[in-house]
Parts: sequence; C-alpha cells; structure tokens
Amino acid sequence: SASHLSDNCIFCKIIRGEIPSQKIAETDKSYAFLDIMPLSEGHALVIPKYHAEFMHEVPDEYLADAMPLAKKVAVASGLKYYNILQNNGKLAHQEVPHVHFHVIPKNKEEDGLAMRWTQL
Ligand code: 5GP
Ligand code: ZN
Repeated sequence: SASHLSDNCIFCKIIRGEIPSQKIAETDKSYAFLDIMPLSEGHALVIPKYHAEFMHEVPDEYLADAMPLAKKVAVASGLKYYNILQNNGKLAHQEVPHVHFHVIPKNKEEDGLAMRWTQL
C-alpha cells in the first residue's frame, strides 16, 4: 500500500506514477517495468511496493508477491535464458536504494520482444 512508500525515493515515485516508466505489469504489492539503461533488450526490474534498501528489510508477503511476478516477466520475455540479479547495498553495487530484482534476458533473437511485454 502507498503508506509503505518513501517521498524521496526514485522507485517509489515510479510506483506512484510521479516519474514515468515503461510498466510491464503490477500487483497490489509489486511493480514491474523496463530498466532505463538496459543490459539487454527487455531488461526489467521488479520492485516491491514497500520502500526498503535491503531485501532482508522487506516483509515476506512482499517478497512472496514479487517472485511470481519476476517469473511472469521472465516467461513473458519469450526467451529461454536470463539472469535474476539483486544487489544489496552500495558495496554490492546497488545504485538505487529501493529493493529491485533485475530480470535480464540473454537473447540472440531480439525481434518482437517489445510486443510480448504487453501480454502480462
Ligand atoms: P542497481 O545497480 O541499483 O542494482 O540497479 C539500478 C538499476 O535501476 C539500473 O539498472 C538503472 O539503469 C535503473 N534505473 C535507475 N534509475 C531509473 C529510472 O529512473 N527509471 C528506470 N526505468 N530505471 C532506472
Ligand atoms: Zn522506494
């Protein structure tokens, strides 16, 4: 719910629609969107609608909601190979201090990928 969001966080602003994003899908507890600097076509981020820097700070019910959404996003990419990545803390290369799961397709065939995101 919105009460778990932060005023100053960039990803909380994306959840609230105050910063535009290319949304893929959302649930009541999670939000999935395309990464603005993709490592491959279709690189997506799945975030809990709960502001926390570290995964261990996120209540289980939010993580339990985010994982099936990450699965849906990975499947919807239509590709067999992908990486799920999640960094915790600056020393671990986290740049945005709101928990996010990267879904990074490792694709050779790029055609039509953008269309498939709309199927969620
Ligand atoms: P981290 O290094 O924190 O694990 O990854 C942060 C990710 O968020 C990066 O891949 C970066 O491209 C992405 N990102 C940062 N700011 C924005 C933004 O305003 N919109 C979107 N869609 N992605 C962002
Ligand atoms: Zn946040």
